[in-house]
Amino acid sequence: MHITVPLLINPKAGSLFRSGLKGWLDANRDAFTIVPTKSAEDLTAKARELAEAGEPVVAAAGGDGTLMCAAQGLIGTKAALGILPCGSMNVFARELGIGSRRFDVALDTIQSGTRQEVDIFTVTDRPFLQMAGFGPDARIIKLITPRLKKHLGPAAHIFTGLHVAMQNHPIISMTLPNGKTYTGTQIILGNGKRYGGEAHLFAEARYDDGLLNAAVIHQESMPILFEILGCMLQRGATRRNTSEFTRLCTFTECEISADGKLDYQLDGDYAGTLMPGETLSIRKLPQTLRVCIPRNYVPATPMEKFMAHPMVEAWRATIRQAQEF
Ligand SMILES: [Mg+2]
Repeated sequence: MHITVPLLINPKAGSLFRSGLKGWLDANRDAFTIVPTKSAEDLTAKARELAEAGEPVVAAAGGDGTLMCAAQGLIGTKAALGILPCGSMNVFARELGIGSRRFDVALDTIQSGTRQEVDIFTVTDRPFLQMAGFGPDARIIKLITPRLKKHLGPAAHIFTGLHVAMQNHPIISMTLPNGKTYTGTQIILGNGKRYGGEAHLFAEARYDDGLLNAAVIHQESMPILFEILGCMLQRGATRRNTSEFTRLCTFTECEISADGKLDYQLDGDYAGTLMPGETLSIRKLPQTLRVCIPRNYVPATPMEKFMAHPMVEAWRATIRQAQEF
C-alpha cells in the first residue's frame, strides 16, 4: 500500500527545474501532497505543523540547506524526514545511500518504511546535518558570488580558492571538555563521512554514534587546500592521523575560538564570522532527527561500487590494521 506523503517545496527554486524533479513529480503526482512554501522559516514552520498533526513522514525537495530547514521543524518529533535530493551536491542524501537526484530511489526509500535516528549537532544553537568548516573553506564559500559562479562555473571555486590561499589565516583553537586543545588554520567537523559530493573526509564517521569527527589542519596558507584534497583522495581512509599536518579526533562537544576574524560554514553555506575574543560552542542536541533510509544500501557511483567490493574492503581493512602498529 502506498501512502501519500506531504512534500515541502519552494515552487520558485531553480533546482526543481535544473534537476528534472519538476517533470518527475508530474509523473508521480499520486505519491505526494505538494505543500508550497514561501521562505526558509515558512518551510520549518510547515514541517513542524505537519509533524504535530501526526504525519509519519514529511518530505522535502532541495539540497542540504533546504533539508536542514525541514529538519529544524522535525527534530525531536516522531515524523521522519523524506528526502528528494534535487540540490547541486546533496551530501546528506548521498551519506544515507539515497544518492543525488535519484528520485525513484528516493521514493522507494520513503515508501519502504525503513527509518533511522540521526544525531544533530549545533554550532552556537544553529544545527547542521552533515558538516561544518572553520577557516579558508568557509571564506571561499563566502567570497563566491552568484555572478562569479555564473561567469566562471566550477572555475569560480579554483579562482576564489587561489585568492583565499594567498591571504593570512587566523590560528584557530579547538578545546575539548577534557581540556585538550588542538590548534590549526582550518577545522572541519563531520557528522558523516562525506565533505562534498562523493568526497570522503572521515572514513570512520557515523551519523548515529553520538560523536562528531574533526579534522584539524595546521598548514601555512596555500597548502591547506591541497591537504584537504589529499585527505579526500585517500577517502580519509585512516583512523590515525592522515599526515603530519592533520589531526583527527572525535568528541560530543567543543569550543572554537581564533586569534583573528574566522569565517565558518554549515553544510556548505556561509554561516557567519567569529570575532577575536568570541567563542563558538559545538554541542550535540539531546533529540535526534528521524530520517527515511533505503532498505538496502545501493552503491550509486562506479567509485562507490569499487570501494564496496569485498576484495577492496578486505584490502582496506588490512591496511588499517597495519597502520595501527
Ligand atoms: Mg557521528
